[in-house]
Amino acid sequence: MICPYCGFEDQEVLNTRITYKGFANWRRRKCLECGGVFTTHEFINLTYIKVIKKSGIVRIYSRARLFSGIFVAFRNIKHMDSGDAAMSAEIVTSEIEKVLIGKKINKISTHELALITAGILAKKNYTAFINYGSYFFAPEVFKRLLVNRGRHN
Ligand SMILES: [Zn+2]
Repeated sequence: MICPYCGFEDQEVLNTRITYKGFANWRRRKCLECGGVFTTHEFINLTYIKVIKKSGIVRIYSRARLFSGIFVAFRNIKHMDSGDAAMSAEIVTSEIEKVLIGKKINKISTHELALITAGILAKKNYTAFINYGSYFFAPEVFKRLLVNRGRHN
């Protein structure tokens, strides 16, 4: 790892947190040269998964793309700080990736991916789930999802 401040290659690891049973972890690092502190995240690379859009267009799975939709769902919650929204979106994105890894698939439709996302969001934050669902699903599809899920969590 190269220090983003000075380019030095050696750091002391201040803190490591492994999340989601080892599927993602982050490290706080302190540069041994300049003392700069920074955080690194490690994720499993899922770019072997193809995401198939409704139009038939195939894209390589992108964590950033998945994250951005989830981030917006959190960010649009009233009084939600964008840092907190990013943190929550990071957690949800990692949980989705864990599901994708567990499925042992190499392709998925955008609709199925959105269903997985909505399912996890519904358990984490109901408002984020509503925000996400009303954006990513056709109204009648989302209405059905809401009815199936109930309003208890
Ligand atoms: Zn440095």
